[in-house]
Amino acid sequence: MKSNFIKTEYKTLEAMIGLYCRDLHSTVKHDLCADCVELLNYAKARLDNCPYQEQKPTCVKCPIHCYKPATREKVRNVMRHAGPRMLKHHPLLAIRHLLHGRREAPPPRKG
Ligand code: SF4
Ligand SMILES: [Zn+2]
Repeated sequence: MKSNFIKTEYKTLEAMIGLYCRDLHSTVKHDLCADCVELLNYAKARLDNCPYQEQKPTCVKCPIHCYKPATREKVRNVMRHAGPRMLKHHPLLAIRHLLHGRREAPPPRKG
């Protein structure tokens, strides 16, 4: 059972990758190209396995950085593009993400 926190992290990822795909891959709203579907699924799997769960910092601030390097670069591109556009398109998620960005990483959970 996923926590509300992780569900909202899912929504933020979907919104950011959605904006990026629509603008750079010319897909229509609420649709994703195959590459972006793959990226979203990968990022969701990382979230599912994140040792911090509800205590997680934003991935940018994470000392573990569990993404493989090529995918990390792809997500960085998504964030760079979608970050400044989030406030207009998804204001609540954008504000939450900004507040979340202030959080420091706690020590990872054991086990
Ligand atoms: S980068 Fe860090 S915070 Fe993000 S999912 Fe991986 S372990 Fe969790
Ligand atoms: Zn795409």
